[in-house]
Amino acid sequence: MTALIIDSAASAGHPVPPGHPEHQGRYDAARSALAGLAGAVWIDSRAAQRTELERFHTARHVAHVLGTIATVGEGEWAALDADTQVTESSAAAGLHAAGGVIEAVDRVIAGEARHAFCLARPPGHHAEPDRAMGFCLFNSVAVGACHALEAHGLERVAIVDIDVHHGNGSQCLAEQDGRVFFASLHQAPLYPGTGTRKETGLNGNVLNIPLPDATPALVWRQHFTTEVLPALRRFKPQMIFISAGFDAHADDPLGGFLLTEPDYAWIAQELAQVAEETAESRLVSVLEGGYDCPALGRAAAAFAAAL
Ligand SMILES: [Zn+2]
Repeated sequence: MTALIIDSAASAGHPVPPGHPEHQGRYDAARSALAGLAGAVWIDSRAAQRTELERFHTARHVAHVLGTIATVGEGEWAALDADTQVTESSAAAGLHAAGGVIEAVDRVIAGEARHAFCLARPPGHHAEPDRAMGFCLFNSVAVGACHALEAHGLERVAIVDIDVHHGNGSQCLAEQDGRVFFASLHQAPLYPGTGTRKETGLNGNVLNIPLPDATPALVWRQHFTTEVLPALRRFKPQMIFISAGFDAHADDPLGGFLLTEPDYAWIAQELAQVAEETAESRLVSVLEGGYDCPALGRAAAAFAAAL
């Protein structure tokens, strides 16, 4: 069966101020790296509807983000937080990033493919129900998980966040919905400062594994093997989402972890195995961080090829 790659041309409509690490070059690097994958079917994303966003976000948040964007003048930026700026054309980028995950969920559940990789920009996992932060406008993976639960009636979904930063926004979903399992391995201390071991959600449906700067890949894999994979198998998700940030790569300028391409291939294989056991192989990956463009491309290609 084929794998899907969800492409979002609207990402180019979200330019950032000079020097900002979350720029369109990242998207282009990942997209180019995936272009050579044999057997992949490319699908265009669509814009998420407000009602779809509001399964996770508050109506106030959606109105605030879209309303702020609507007031930005040509060639200007408005700040939603200290490092999250928007332009007049940022709405389509945010809506398509989230809508792309919805599209992936629909197609994977329809059986068109087992696996989908969503090229998305801006990233989403820091966006909370009522707050944009950390480059993120809407939480694409959380919106996709809600779509799987509400539109398709799944009873259990998991989000595994491998970005070097804690997925605080996605954790909010698990904290309010016991049908969601959320696991994150992330560097601590590091932005956004959340994700302690004590944050365990509802009856343990949140698993945080904070690890120090310069954690070797072998140690990262040990925690993944002994904690994340067993917890996932106990939860028995019917669909697995991966918040696929590649900033845990050794070359990344924002993170201090030491993963390399073989580690990303290994992660993909391990999660595909769990998905095969519990989720009819349904696996949806969503691009989050990754700020060294060559490393992002190589890691994303290794990850997607392993699927
Ligand atoms: Zn990150």
